[in-house]
Formats: sequence, C-alpha cells, structure tokens
Amino acid sequence: MLLLDPDFEDAVKDEIIGQHSNAVFAVKKAGKDLADFFSAMEDNEYMQQRCADFLDISDRIARVLENADCNLSTIDEPVILMADDLTPGETIQMDTTNVLAFVTGGGSVNSHTAILARSIGITAVVNTGVEADTKLNGHMGIVDGDMGRVLIDPEDEILEKYEEKLKKYNDEKKSLEELRTVSTVTRSGRKIDLYANVGNIQDVVRAVDSGADGIGLFRSEFLYIGKADFPSEEEQFESYKKAAELMNGKEVIIRTLDIGADKKADYLNLGKEENPAMGMRAIRICLKHPEIFKTQLRAIYRASAFGTISVMFPMITSAHEVERALQITDDVKKELSDKSIRYGEVKRGIMIETPAAAVMSDILAEKVDFFSIGTNDLTQYTLAMDRQNPEMSEFLDMHSPAVLRLIKMTVRNAHEKNVKVGICGELGADPKLTEFFINNEVDELSVSAPKILSLRKHIRELE
Ligand code: PEP
Ligand code: MG
Repeated sequence: MLLLDPDFEDAVKDEIIGQHSNAVFAVKKAGKDLADFFSAMEDNEYMQQRCADFLDISDRIARVLENADCNLSTIDEPVILMADDLTPGETIQMDTTNVLAFVTGGGSVNSHTAILARSIGITAVVNTGVEADTKLNGHMGIVDGDMGRVLIDPEDEILEKYEEKLKKYNDEKKSLEELRTVSTVTRSGRKIDLYANVGNIQDVVRAVDSGADGIGLFRSEFLYIGKADFPSEEEQFESYKKAAELMNGKEVIIRTLDIGADKKADYLNLGKEENPAMGMRAIRICLKHPEIFKTQLRAIYRASAFGTISVMFPMITSAHEVERALQITDDVKKELSDKSIRYGEVKRGIMIETPAAAVMSDILAEKVDFFSIGTNDLTQYTLAMDRQNPEMSEFLDMHSPAVLRLIKMTVRNAHEKNVKVGICGELGADPKLTEFFINNEVDELSVSAPKILSLRKHIRELE
C-alpha cells in the first residue's frame, strides 16, 4: 500500500529527473524524506510510527536495485550457502533448518559472522579466497568445518568416508548428552562456571539444552541489527524477560548495546568512519545518546524482576566511562522506583576488551561486581590486527603471550578486590588454553552453546 502512494513515486522521479541522482539514492532519499515528514507528526503516534515503514520499504527496494536482496530466512530446501561474504545481520536471519553449512570467500574466524555460525552450531568455512559462482548451483558439496575444507562433487569413495565421519560425529555428540546435568569440575575438585554466549532467544534455548550454568554474554546488539528502527523498550523487555525465565534462576549477563564496527544498523546514522573499529561503537554511542542507553537499561532492569540478570558494559577504556555508565544506571533505577516498577538485584560488570581496561583493571575493579574478558577485541587491539581482515591470519598468534599476560594481570587485579572474572571471547572455548585459565583461577568460561558439553568433558578430564 505504501508503495502505491503517489507521493513516494513522485519523490523518486523528481530526484532522478531533477537532480540526476541514481535510482538507489533517489529511493533512499524519498523514503527518508517521507519518514521525516511522518516522524514530525508529534500529536499522532500512529502516523509517527509509519516513519519506520517508509525506511523499511525504501531500504528493501534499494537492496533489490543493488541486486543485494537475498532473504536467507526463506530458503526452502536443504542447501550449502556460498557467498563472497555475509554480514552478521544476514547470518542471524538464516533459516538453520535448511542452510546445512555456509562457505564464504572472504571473512575471518573472529568476525561476528563466524562467531554467530558457532553459536547456531552451523558448519562454516570462511576466507576460502574463492568467489561465489552461480555455476556451482545444484552441485553436491562437502563442507568440513574441522579441516576448513570444501569439496565440490566428491567421488563416491570420499563421500562414503565423510558419511562415516558424520555418523561418528553425531554419535559422539549424543554420548556427550549425559554431561548435561553434571557440574564442571576438574579431577582435583576445582570448579569453574561454564556459561553460554547468546545473541537471541533461540540461542538461550540451545544454552538450556546444553546444560549451561548461566549466560555469560547476551550480545544484545543482535536485537538491534537487521531492523528498520530501534527495538522498543517493550520488545527488549520481552526478550530479556524470556531469557531470564528460560534460565530459571541461573545468571543471565546482558551486555548493553555493542553496535558499530562490523555490526551496523542504518537507522543509527553513524556516518562513514575511517576506522570504525576504533570509532563510534558500544558504550561510546550509549554515553553520547543516553536516551538509547536508558531505554535499554529500563528494559533490562524491568526484566530483572523475573530471574537473575546482570548487566555489563562493553568497550570500556577508563574509570570515567564506568562511572558515567553506573550513574545513568542509578538514574534509571531511581526512575523505576519512583514509578513503583519492580526490579531485582542486578550485578554490574564491564568487559575487559581494550588494553587500557586490562592495564587499569586494579582501579576498575573497585567500581564493579565482575569482569568479563573479551579476548576477540583484546587480541585485535593489543596486537593492532583487525579481526575482520583475513590477511591478518598469517600474522595472528591466537595465543599471543602479550594477550595472555594481560589476562593473567586482569584476573590477579580482580581477585584482589573480590571481583569475579569470566572469559567470553572465543579463546574461552579453546581447549589448548583451558588449563591456563584454570591455573590462573578464571572463575567462568562463556562459550557458544554447541561447545559447552565437549568443553565440560575436557575440564572433567583435567587434573
Ligand atoms: C570480545 O571482543 O571478545 C567479545 C566477546 O565481544 P564481541 O566478539 O561481540 O566483540
Ligand atoms: Mg568485543
């Protein structure tokens, strides 16, 4: 109906004919102008809400014009998906019943696209260097995520070998199920909390199914991306409440909005930045726009009445930022109390994912209840190696002694002030480092749900 609106069509035509703009620009501009027009109707909430619809339809037409429209939520037959690259927004939309695996020519193992694939438990191989080609449509393929291998039209012998491998993998997975309800403890009795990283409610269900001791990282930004406008307080409240209820009293750590860098939402209008990973993202956006931050905090605090919720601030670099974030949180608590709205006991923590935060961890520990070390960003910023850049893989030491030192120092500083420390970056799931984390008294490891049971098995076999 909106598309039939002659005002919209005329605005597009005028822009193309009058301004010689290209079609994509013209459509986006017409959508934006109409959205601004409706959003200015302050006395009519219904009309104001049409603003998001105009942005949504113009964005969708622009994507068709750019030949970029690919709706991954409607794939209706089992496929291996091949793409030059996938954004986190596209990956999160994927219908996982029919996408058996995906393969990208670009991308890197620490990108959010790869992280999402791990949390959904979907087999993926990234950075193959091979361009997606429609000639491959309809061909048989094998995607071996363990070895990072993709085989097209395999011979019968190879296919049989892989069928056996798949059966063995599924049998092993089944046998791990008996570890769902046992505790995560080493042979000598050292207990560690094994939490799950999640991005949406389906992930929380997966976390419950794998016997997670809690949620160590709820990447709340996935509620914001792939949308035409901000999620409302109510929508967020429902998600956080559902997560708390599903976890049935176990801790759910919700990280406040960590948008920016590779996680984009057009409606934020962040503008073009030379170095987005070092630009407007995460807590910086929230401190600059307290109304965005407060809406989210209200939703989190209201949901805390329905379970055990903690809140965590990302990309911290200084004590001052922590103080400002805590102050805004206190303001929100006061506003809720004034309106007699219930909320629970919410622990407040920060991510240690910048070298500055690790170096200042003794001071930061005086201000919060817990730390969670984000090794993905801590590695990127410590080594000055872009986590998105596939070219970096040959230089990147995933077990860099510089990063391990910062982790050790952070845990020591935290424990001196009785502050709990978790690891929620991808290194938390790396079995080669489990002993290091346990020996250095890390309190919690938070990993994607599909990794929980095998990691629990590994920890229970350690001395
Ligand atoms: C991290 O940086 O390690 C982290 C857990 O956060 P994200 O991967 O979402 O940036
Ligand atoms: Mg991070």
